[in-house]
Amino acid sequence: MVENNFYQINEIRKYANANKIPIMQNEGIDFLTTFIIKHQIKNVLEIGTAIGYSAIMMALCSPNLKITTIERDEQRYLEAVKNIKKFNLEKRITLIFNDALNVKIDEKFDLVFIDAAKAQNIRFFELFERNLLDNGYIITDNMYFHGLVHKNIKEISSRSLRGIVRKINDYIVFLKNNDKYTTTIYDIGDGIAVSEKKWEVF
Ligand code: SAM
Repeated sequence: MVENNFYQINEIRKYANANKIPIMQNEGIDFLTTFIIKHQIKNVLEIGTAIGYSAIMMALCSPNLKITTIERDEQRYLEAVKNIKKFNLEKRITLIFNDALNVKIDEKFDLVFIDAAKAQNIRFFELFERNLLDNGYIITDNMYFHGLVHKNIKEISSRSLRGIVRKINDYIVFLKNNDKYTTTIYDIGDGIAVSEKKWEVF
């Protein structure tokens, strides 16, 4: 990463930290960018832009990569627009300001990256798998949900957190039982699921 990019990325991280905006952990972003390079990913659909950090990091790791990313929070979306401009990545990162559950895209991608409302993962997966190319991947972040997924649910005092943890557990079962994909959950960052679409045999 060139020095100025490094400075700007650090500024985005500081902004996220100061404003309590959840962005990917370092380990997670390293995994994602390495995955993109290793699998020669050409285009990504990201659900959950926040302020554009992961989209920018993905774009910087691979010079021809194109990304379409969706965010429903206006303030975060506007911040993402600014950040993407700072990196001159407007031609490679397309931002959509909307609730992803209301978005219909015709384009096909070789990677769908789900990093939005954790309780909605199954809905995002079912909605956007139609945008996946035959040999594509769906990656989902926060499978451990800050370690809470490994806790006894009765020990989690917040009702809403218990609800999210239950939904993530439902998502894990959904992925394991989904015979169209092979899913591996990696013990990296906050837990990353990689679902690889199986080749269809006719
Ligand atoms: N991928 C980002 C990164 O690492 O830089 C972080 C994304 S943050 C964990 C999740 C974002 O998803 C939030 O900004 C939230 O507003 C957005 N979000 C949640 N549900 C959404 C939905 N249904 N449609 C669009 N955006 C959504």
